[in-house]
Amino acid sequence: MNEQLVQNIQYRRDVMRVLALFTCVGGLLFSVLNFYRDIYILSAIELGFCFYSIFLWRIIPTTPHFSTWVLFYIIPCFLVIQYALFLPQSSEAMFVWILTIPLVSYLLLGRQKGFWVSVFFIVLGLIVYHWRFIDDSNSFTLNTAISINVCFSAIMCMAIAHVYELNREKNEQRLLALAGTDKLTGLANRMKLEGGFEHYSLLSKRHNINFIFVLIDLDFFKNINDQYGHDMGDKALCYVADFLKKNIRESDLLARFGGEEFSLLMTSSDIDEAYQHINLIREKLSQHPFIRDNHSIKITMSAGLATYGIDGTSLDSLMKKADERLYMAKSNGRNCIVITDQN
Ligand code: GH3
Ligand code: MG
Ligand code: MG
Repeated sequence: MNEQLVQNIQYRRDVMRVLALFTCVGGLLFSVLNFYRDIYILSAIELGFCFYSIFLWRIIPTTPHFSTWVLFYIIPCFLVIQYALFLPQSSEAMFVWILTIPLVSYLLLGRQKGFWVSVFFIVLGLIVYHWRFIDDSNSFTLNTAISINVCFSAIMCMAIAHVYELNREKNEQRLLALAGTDKLTGLANRMKLEGGFEHYSLLSKRHNINFIFVLIDLDFFKNINDQYGHDMGDKALCYVADFLKKNIRESDLLARFGGEEFSLLMTSSDIDEAYQHINLIREKLSQHPFIRDNHSIKITMSAGLATYGIDGTSLDSLMKKADERLYMAKSNGRNCIVITDQN
């Protein structure tokens, strides 16, 4: 996964470590307390949790199975809360812990899993609470008031956690989209290209197919800036970006590589087929000048192609190969495409 996207899991690891710390201290305190209250089973479980959280504290920063460990922490922990609430020696104050369930679940598991885990354990907690503490000898109005208090507070905590996580997710998606977008052309940028490359290479390994990396550079672009000004150059870049976008397949990933260079990840596994496609785009671009303010500016492109699996399996190696071939295309007089080292 892309470095920037990993941050999402990193913050969850930090939250999990804080919880492990509190579970360790809390587990030890309650274990001692419940031992002196003669609640031995709960005391032993709490001591076990204390040691378990020391183990979690150590492995959480690096484990590749973070989500699994979260479930192995959350589910036993929430079951112990229910068990403690169920015991005849416990007081109504135990219900406070039920209110922490949505907060912990949403923070550690995200919106979807957090929702289902919260619903399950809150409903269970409410059933246990009612079974333990709703007393028929109370007046109907008192029991109703108690019920409304516990249900309402639990549902409110869950609703707040849900709305918070929903907005956090949306903001995260928006920031990721922004971080992966080139400001001028609206195309994917290098960061998104790197993420896309990882996705393509996983697919390629799984289905044993190759894909093509294309590096495109506009010819004599500096002349456009020099002749018509930088603003016009920017508009010409947007025109080319739009042109390329309209002429590629939906499954291909087009990115602005930097400056007046673009890259394309093509799902085509056949270099000749990819060449035909890019060559058609090249021809079409040279026949469709950029027209603005009564100026008609002819733009041409050169490109170098590299095949995943044959020319390399890392983005760097493919870039290097495609760049060498692009350089050859420039030496061959520009407005052309090179697909092998022999051209
Ligand atoms: P070649 O055919 O050898 O590629 O010639 P070229 O002039 O396109 O190549 P060169 O690398 O010498 O120059 C690229 C130019 O692209 C330099 C810079 O003025 C222009 N350029 C790069 N990024 C931008 C941009 O964001 N906006 C504008 N307007 N121009 C840019
Ligand atoms: Mg260039
Ligand atoms: Mg150029």
